[in-house]
Amino acid sequence: MTTTVLVLNAGSSSLKFALFDMQQHSLMMEGIAERLNADESCIKFSTSENESAEITESGLNHKTALEKIIQQMKPYPKPQVVGHRVVHGGEYFREAVIINDQVIEKIEACIELAPLHNPANLIGIQAAVENFVDVPQVAIFDTAFHASLPEKAYLYALPYDLYKEQSVRRYGFHGTSHQYVSQKAAQSIEEPIEQLNMVVAHLGNGCSATAVAAGKSVDTTMGMTPLEGLVMGTRSGSIDPAILLYLTSHKNMTIEEVDQLLNKKSGLLGLSGLSNDMRTLEQARLEGHQGAAIAIDVFCYRLAKHIAALLVSLKSFDALVFTGGIGENSSFIREKTCEQLEVLGVFIDASKNQNLAKKSIGKISCSDSTAQVWVVPTNEELMIAKQSIELISA
Ligand code: ADP
Repeated sequence: MTTTVLVLNAGSSSLKFALFDMQQHSLMMEGIAERLNADESCIKFSTSENESAEITESGLNHKTALEKIIQQMKPYPKPQVVGHRVVHGGEYFREAVIINDQVIEKIEACIELAPLHNPANLIGIQAAVENFVDVPQVAIFDTAFHASLPEKAYLYALPYDLYKEQSVRRYGFHGTSHQYVSQKAAQSIEEPIEQLNMVVAHLGNGCSATAVAAGKSVDTTMGMTPLEGLVMGTRSGSIDPAILLYLTSHKNMTIEEVDQLLNKKSGLLGLSGLSNDMRTLEQARLEGHQGAAIAIDVFCYRLAKHIAALLVSLKSFDALVFTGGIGENSSFIREKTCEQLEVLGVFIDASKNQNLAKKSIGKISCSDSTAQVWVVPTNEELMIAKQSIELISA
C-alpha cells in the first residue's frame, strides 16, 4: 500500500518540499531550497521531531537541490509518488493527473497564461523525473477546483472570440486550499458538504475568496491570472481596466512597468507606502501610521464587498471561513471584515475571535449569526499528498 508521498512546489528560484506518511496523515520532513541558480543557495530542513538543518552551497539548481534533499530524506521510506503543485491548468485539467509527455505538453501550452509560474513548475517536474526515474509523478493544479465555475461566472464581457480563440476567461487560483479548507470546515460543522453553501477567504500574500456550493467552486475572485479580485500584499486586485490605458498612453509607462506596478508595487504595499506584510501594518497602524490604516481599511472593505458579491452564486449562506496567514492569525482583520457583513446578519463573538489558539480550527461566530464563521488553517501540501495517493491508488 502506498504511504509515503513527496510534495514539491517549485518557484523560479525556490523549491518547497514536504514528505508525508499518509498512513498516519503526518508530516515527516519539510523545507525549502532558496536562491537557486544564484551565488549562495540555501536549503532549510525541519523534521516532525523538531530537528532542523541548513545547507548553504553556491550555484545549486532545482535538480542538484533535489539531490541534496533526497540525501536528507534517507532515514525515511522512499516516496511512492511525487505530487507537484502546478499553478495553471487552463481548460485542459479539471482534476489531478499522472504526469506523462502529453500532460507536460499541455502544461507547456498554459505557459502563456501563467508565464511566471508554469515554467518553474515544469523545472520542478523535470528535476523530480530525473531523480525518481521509477516513481509516478502527479500534477495538482491550482485552477482545477474552479473547473466547476459556470459560464456566467467565468466569462468576461469581452468579444466572445477572445474566449473561444485565445482562452481569455476567468480560471481562479488557490483551488487546492479552497477545496481543503471547505472540506475541513464541513467536517467541523458536522454537516455533509453536499448540504453546505460557504464562502472561503484565503488571505495570504495572495488573497482570494471562493463561493463553494455542495463542495464545488461556483465563483471566485481571482480571474484569468491571480491579479484579479481582492487587495493583496503587492497586487492591486481588481481595478478599472482603463487605468492601464491611461498609464500607457498618457503617462508613457511601458507594459513591463505597468506589470511591475500592478503585481509588485500595489496592494497593501502600494497603499501603505510601508509594507506588504499585514503584521507590520497592524503594528504601524497602532502607532499612528496613516498609510497603514488606509491600506487595512481598503483591504477589509474590499474583502467584505467581494464576500457579499459571491453570495449571489449561493442558495444560502451557511458559513464564512477564514484561512491563510492573515485569515488564520489576524483577529483584527477578521473582526473588521465581519463588521461590514453585519447587514447580512453575520456576527462574530469578540472573545472567541481573539482567543482562538494558533493553528487551530475554531468557530468564532455568535449563536444568532445567520452564517457560522470559522477559522480553518489551510494545508495545501497535505491536500496535494492526499490527491496524489488517491490518483495512483485508483
Ligand atoms: P503565502 O501566501 O506566501 O503562503 P501566508 O499565507 O504565510 O503567505 O500569509 C502571509 C501573510 O500573513 C503576511 O501578510 C503576514 O503578515 C500575515 N500574518 C501572519 N501572521 C500574522 C498575524 N499574527 N497577524 C497578522 N497578519 C499575520
